[in-house]
Amino acid sequence: MSAQLEQKVLDTLKGIQDPAKGIDIVSAGMVIGLQSRDGHIAFTIDIGEPARAKEFEPVRKQAEEAVHAMDGVLSVTAVLTAEKKTAPQQPQQPAADQSGLLMPGVKSIVAVSSGKGGVGKSTTSVNLALALAAKGLQVGLLDADIYGPSIPRMLGITDKPVSLDGKILEPMENHGIKCMSIGFLVEEDTAMIWRGPMVMGALEQLMRDVNWGTLDILVVDMPPGTGDVQLTMAQKVPLTGSVIVSTPQDIALLDTRKGLNMFRKVEIPVFGIVENMSYFSCPHCGERTDIFSHGGARQTAEAQGADFLGEIPLDIKIRETSDGGNPIVTSEPDSEHAKAYKAIADKVWFKAMEQMNGSQGPKIVFD
Ligand code: ADP
Repeated sequence: MSAQLEQKVLDTLKGIQDPAKGIDIVSAGMVIGLQSRDGHIAFTIDIGEPARAKEFEPVRKQAEEAVHAMDGVLSVTAVLTAEKKTAPQQPQQPAADQSGLLMPGVKSIVAVSSGKGGVGKSTTSVNLALALAAKGLQVGLLDADIYGPSIPRMLGITDKPVSLDGKILEPMENHGIKCMSIGFLVEEDTAMIWRGPMVMGALEQLMRDVNWGTLDILVVDMPPGTGDVQLTMAQKVPLTGSVIVSTPQDIALLDTRKGLNMFRKVEIPVFGIVENMSYFSCPHCGERTDIFSHGGARQTAEAQGADFLGEIPLDIKIRETSDGGNPIVTSEPDSEHAKAYKAIADKVWFKAMEQMNGSQGPKIVFD
């Protein structure tokens, strides 16, 4: 729906002219970073040179007023920017935007993290991203796990990304979602010896220098653990919220609590905990065995002040499908397990929308 509204906004803005050039501001590539959320619209008009700011102030006002008059629009924020250095041929290139936003077209970002490795964080990230896409959302998946970038393999991507202009990388795409991995920038076995500044540099590059385009949600597969690297990443990425993955035997342990505290420290909402390998699902008879007993996870999550988002069983199908590049949400979309991921995706998207609306300023405008 918001994509439709954004297109209508662009159509409206085509009626606004650059006074000097005599062409409309959309065709001139001046409208960048257009975002819409529940009728609230924001965009940037890139005027190229600071000296044109005065001349463009009436254009900015005119653009705001024209969009405000549209059906379904509640508020409009248009800002002028003058820092763009490149010729404005590609209007929606995020990297051309110098307004301070790393990914102007990305509406929400959710980090998936875990207290330690091997709990199924990447498997959860990939299935969550695909389940969000199955809801009709535009989804990206950023593999920021320097210790084991496995997302391209799980998505069945074997090629490397290319750059069409030598500056901006095109994200890889499969199963309907866009993907970039820190593993594309570095060999798998050297990434883990990176130090903080190198990690941050690479991460920034993956956000700023990738043509993410318009995304409803970007899922970030974080490196496991709660050390300095993770903390800095959590601060650096403009996160809407986070999801913590844990196995049942760890959920009451320090690792998960540390994860919760890490995000709380940097004031990022914890959407909740996913319990992975929650119970054993027998591949022969389908019987469920609660190896680590059952129900404790929900209580523990709640005792720690976090929501319980759902449980995923230990099932060989989940391992085989994700390790084989065709995760269960796409390979068996009607299976119980796919449904479990989809239910988690519903909750995550709901919470992301809550956050987006909350930070949207006044929702009802009385003139
Ligand atoms: P992490 O990202 O936490 O290191 P991964 O997602 O890479 O963990 O998972 C580690 C291994 O466990 C992978 O081989 C994966 O296929 C498998 N795995 C993860 N979750 C499940 C599950 N629910 N059932 C079966 N195997 C799983």
